[in-house]
Amino acid sequence: MSGLEQARITEAFASNYIAPVGPMVDAFEQAFTNKVGLPHALAVNSGTAAMHLALRALGVGPGDTVFCSTLTFIASISPALQLGATPVFIDADASSWCLDPTVLARAISAAAAQGRLPKAVVAVDLYGQCCDMDRILAVCRPHGIPVIEDAAEALGATYRGVPAGQRGDLAVYSFNGNKIITTSGGGMLAARNPDFIAKSRFWACQARDPAAHYEHSEIGYNYRLSNILAAMGCAQLEVLEERAAAKRAIFDRYYSQLGDLPRVSFMPEATYGCCSRWLTVMQLNDAGGATPEAVRLALEEENIEARLVWKPMHLQPMFAGVPFVGSTSTGDFLAPRRRGAGEAGGAVGQSDGPTVARSQLPTVSEALFRHGLCLPSGTAMTGNDVDRVCAVVRRVLEKHARGN
Ligand SMILES: *Cc1c(COP(=O)(O)O)cnc(C)c1O
Repeated sequence: MSGLEQARITEAFASNYIAPVGPMVDAFEQAFTNKVGLPHALAVNSGTAAMHLALRALGVGPGDTVFCSTLTFIASISPALQLGATPVFIDADASSWCLDPTVLARAISAAAAQGRLPKAVVAVDLYGQCCDMDRILAVCRPHGIPVIEDAAEALGATYRGVPAGQRGDLAVYSFNGNKIITTSGGGMLAARNPDFIAKSRFWACQARDPAAHYEHSEIGYNYRLSNILAAMGCAQLEVLEERAAAKRAIFDRYYSQLGDLPRVSFMPEATYGCCSRWLTVMQLNDAGGATPEAVRLALEEENIEARLVWKPMHLQPMFAGVPFVGSTSTGDFLAPRRRGAGEAGGAVGQSDGPTVARSQLPTVSEALFRHGLCLPSGTAMTGNDVDRVCAVVRRVLEKHARGN
């Protein structure tokens, strides 16, 4: 917390709007639109809820496919399944770790040839880095495919000088406790088209039709953000730039202390933007060295929490049988293929697409998962805290370099 929140919460209490509606909700939406440069926004109780509304606003439903970054958190795609759609997962680009526009172009050409274009593309801004939206839009626009930018991890980052999310047809943000700013739990849906937001606002309030009595002609949700939490959001939004600067300073400190280690690299910053470094993410080249898991366990012994990189969606048991379009580090494409449907239970969206033999090489997202480790990156960390983490990482890597 910044210290500004308590005053805004007191203000919210004084207004007696202790409900998922009120002046703080309005103020938060207004301040947010100014911050991200999109004219319309809807405050909701989670980023996942915002994604659900975004997909529904685009008309995603049973029988549709949604193309989505494979290297992401489950909430980027789980709402599409709630709507009855089937995902197709797209690999990451090694230079940004985000959705690879070249692989996406391949996947969309293949889908166009089959006459089965996706209803939407979910492009995820990963770990504070924006995806290459101009290239993604250049692929999608000619086919009229709308793009949802999942900017949950990238508030505070910029893409070609504009805030994360601004290029998407719809943008999704999160204020969960682990995000760069937080309302403990919360989210925002933003768009240029006011109809998307008006319709989403209607669904988020139980789809109550305009009438004196309670009238319903569609199914809705209880998705609005509490006025009390919106008060926190207003205060947190004021320190967004400060928080992004603090995140980048934490990254710089890690980089200056660990960047010289032969097996270590970090998520590259794409040339087109400014990464918020929501998390500092390290890559360990494992040629005989320590694994990310070994480092994670060594940190845990010191009561320091680190996390592995998102496990790609196409490797998740629940997505066995779902098509994945990937590329290896050598640039070989894997056409839409499916894993053996017998590999795990609960598979969704069996595809009739061609099955291509598994390459020996991991795809880009698979390699990032295998070698990556997210280091503690909370903005409350002191320089000494970062140094403590670095000392453990260095000790483990040097021990392995000496052959244990
Ligand atoms: C956190 C996150 C979400 C979901 O946000 P919640 O507010 O936790 O529901 C969606 N997508 C990504 C990429 C996230 O990191």
